[in-house]
Amino acid sequence: MRFYLFLVFLCISPLLAGDDFATARDAMVAEINEMTRYTSDLTGKTILSKRVMDVMNRVPRHEFVSADMRAFAYQNHALPLASNQTISQPYIVALMTDLADVDEEDTVLEVGTGSGYQAAVLAELCRKVYSVEIIESLGEQASLILQRLGYGNVSLRIGDGYHGWPEAAPFDAILVTAAPETVPEALLEQLRSGGKLVIPLGQQGSIQTLRVFEKNEQGEIKKRDILPVGFVPLTRED
Ligand code: SAH
Repeated sequence: MRFYLFLVFLCISPLLAGDDFATARDAMVAEINEMTRYTSDLTGKTILSKRVMDVMNRVPRHEFVSADMRAFAYQNHALPLASNQTISQPYIVALMTDLADVDEEDTVLEVGTGSGYQAAVLAELCRKVYSVEIIESLGEQASLILQRLGYGNVSLRIGDGYHGWPEAAPFDAILVTAAPETVPEALLEQLRSGGKLVIPLGQQGSIQTLRVFEKNEQGEIKKRDILPVGFVPLTRED
């Protein structure tokens, strides 16, 4: 009898593990909502779009971090990746995605693939995601994870995202998840009219600013500062 109970436990334990993560994801979403209210004086937003938050509650962040970080995957914190890089805090991922304002027909560029998590969030919300990563090993690892999870609408490239992805431009939105000191002109050029570029700007070690550039139908650019942030630097190929 005990043996059979043990077998039943073995069969359902993966399901229990899945449930554990679902509960943790609910808690993460609650924390993001709380932080959104708390930062609303800066961002002007008391809630983020339901479409974005539903995706935050679905994408398995634990799949994008190393085994020893899995227990922390749904805390509202940035986590270390290989090569001294970080997967952004879930609140920042949700906020940047909300600011990019993408819909299901959109083509989006991400600069700084890292773990692939932000790319997966975008992939659930739009038609096609292009993502560029400068560190080969990170890009390769992200590619394997995204394939395994079935994100067939993400294309990855190893290279310097400072130059964007000209062959796939124009983009309805561009998200940059590493901070340059000034906005790369190529990214503004590759933005479609009506599109938004969401980017942290500023020196490493000092407080950076998350800024949104919006291109109107006449091609004019308007900019808006959202809040202070801390990102790894956007490095350059020599
Ligand atoms: N969006 C990622 C987090 C990225 S951390 C995620 O969801 O996990 C920032 C990433 O930008 C790092 O992986 C870093 O290697 C990459 N990066 C830095 N400079 C870059 C550049 N010039 N072009 C492309 N990627 C760059």
